[in-house]
Amino acid sequence: MTIKAFHKKLTLIIAFVLCAGLFGAVGMTHASIEPTATNKVPLVLQDATVVDVRTGELIEDQTIIVTGNRISYIGDNDEVTLPKHAQVRNASGQYVIPGLWDMHVHLDHDHEHAFPLLLGNGVTGVRDMGAPLNDIDKWKNVIKKGMSAPRIIYAGSTIFQFKGNLEAPHVINVKSEKEAREAVRTNASKGADFLKVYSYKTPAIYAAIVDEAKKYRLPIAGHLPMPVRAIDAVRAGQKSIEHMYGLFIATSSKEAEFLGKADYEDRYYEYEILAEKHYDPKRAERLFNIFVQNEVYQVPMLITEKNELKSKIDSRAIYVPTAFQKAWIKMIKGAEPDKMTADYVKIKDGMVKKMNDAGVPILAGTDSDFELTNLIYGVSLHDELQLLVENGLSPLQALQTATLNPAKYMERVYELGTVEEGKLADLVLLKANPLEDIRNTTRISAVIYNGKLIEKKELEKSIKTYELVKMEDVKVEPSPPHKPKSSSHHHGLHSH
Ligand SMILES: [Zn+2]
Repeated sequence: MTIKAFHKKLTLIIAFVLCAGLFGAVGMTHASIEPTATNKVPLVLQDATVVDVRTGELIEDQTIIVTGNRISYIGDNDEVTLPKHAQVRNASGQYVIPGLWDMHVHLDHDHEHAFPLLLGNGVTGVRDMGAPLNDIDKWKNVIKKGMSAPRIIYAGSTIFQFKGNLEAPHVINVKSEKEAREAVRTNASKGADFLKVYSYKTPAIYAAIVDEAKKYRLPIAGHLPMPVRAIDAVRAGQKSIEHMYGLFIATSSKEAEFLGKADYEDRYYEYEILAEKHYDPKRAERLFNIFVQNEVYQVPMLITEKNELKSKIDSRAIYVPTAFQKAWIKMIKGAEPDKMTADYVKIKDGMVKKMNDAGVPILAGTDSDFELTNLIYGVSLHDELQLLVENGLSPLQALQTATLNPAKYMERVYELGTVEEGKLADLVLLKANPLEDIRNTTRISAVIYNGKLIEKKELEKSIKTYELVKMEDVKVEPSPPHKPKSSSHHHGLHSH
C-alpha cells in the first residue's frame, strides 16, 4: 500500500469511527426495515474494478473483503492476506458499484413479487412512498421469516386531501388540520421514517402536518403540495419534491395567478404546460439555488409518464402477474391518444436538464407499482437511469442519483452510497463499465446485499415469470359515458 493510500484508508477509518460515535451519541436511529441475514464466513471479491461513484475514478486490481455485513478491507490484489475459510469470488473483468436505490416505489401488498425483482436487478434499497398500513406489517413478517428483501425506508400512508372523497388503501384522506395531525401520529406509531405529503385545499393543512411532524422529528417528503409555493415548501423543510410537479408554475412569472386557480388540481398538466410559456430564467435560477443550498432533492421519475405513453405492453411484463398485465392492456387500449401528456413529457425532459445543469440534487425514482402501466419493480429503475442520461446527466451523475445521492438524502453516507471500507456491503457486480454506457447497469453478474453474495442465476430463480399477455387477447368494453376512469392520471393527478 502506498503512503497516500494508507492515509486515505486511515482518514476513512477515523471518519467512520467519528460518524458512528456521533450518531450513537445523539441517538440518531432510523426505523427502516433492514435485512438480518448475512454471510457466516468472510467474502472475498478478487481482482475487481471498483467504481468510485464520487469521482468517476476506476480503481483496478482490487480485492474486497466483506466481514459480516460490512466491507472490512479494500486493497490492491498483491497486498492482501486472505482470511481463512473465506468464500472467494473471482471478479476479474467485473465492475463493483454500490447497491442501487429506487427512491420512489409503492410496494403495497405486491412485496412477494417486488422483493426478488428488486434484488435481482441490483436494487438493494427502496424508499416506499405510501402504502396501506397493514401491508407494512406483512413486509416485516415475511422478512422476519427469512425472505430476502432490500432495505426499506417508508412513509406509512400518504397524507392526502383529494377532491371529493376519493379513498385509496395507501392514503389517509384528511379533511381538517386536526385530522392531518392525527394522520401524522398514526404514521409515526407505525414506525414511519418520514411523512409523504400530497395536495391540500389550504396551505394550513400542510402547515399542521409540518408542525406535528417536528414533534416526532420526522422529515417531510412528497409532492409539492397544491397550493403551496415551492419556496414555502423549502422553508417548511420539505426534503424532496416528487415528479417535479408544480415546478413550471414555480419558475414562471405567473406563479400567483396559477396557484390561485380553483381547478388547479383537475387541470394540472394543462396549467404546467401553459406556465412553461412564461418561464422566467431569473426566478428559476433563484429557486434552483435555493434547492441547492437547502439540499432539496428532486425525483423526476421520467419513466412513469414515458410508460404511460407507450402503445404496447412492455415485453418485460413476463415478471408481472397476469391480472395486472390484463389491467395494463385495458388501460393502454382505453386511453385516447394523449397529446397533453406528450407535451408535458417534452417540457419535463427540458426541466431535468436545466436543474441538473444548475446543480440541483436528483434522486432516481420510478413510482413502481403494479397498478401503473408498464412499471416493473427493479427493471424500471434502470430505464430511469437511461432516461436521466438522455436528458443531460452524465453516466456518473445518473449512477449517483441511485447511490451517493440517496445516501446523502438519508444522512447515511457513513454507511451507504459508495464502495468503501467500513460501509455496509450492498454491492452490485457488473460485467461492463457503467460509466462508459449507463445501460451496463443491467449487465449484472452478482448482487451482494448485507454481506451476502447471490449470483445472478440464483437471483433469477427466485423471480416468478408469467406468460406475456397478448394485446389482442384482452377485450375492452366501451366505458359508460361520463364515468371517469378511476386510475386515470391523464388530466389530473393520480394518487401516487
Ligand atoms: Zn408515487
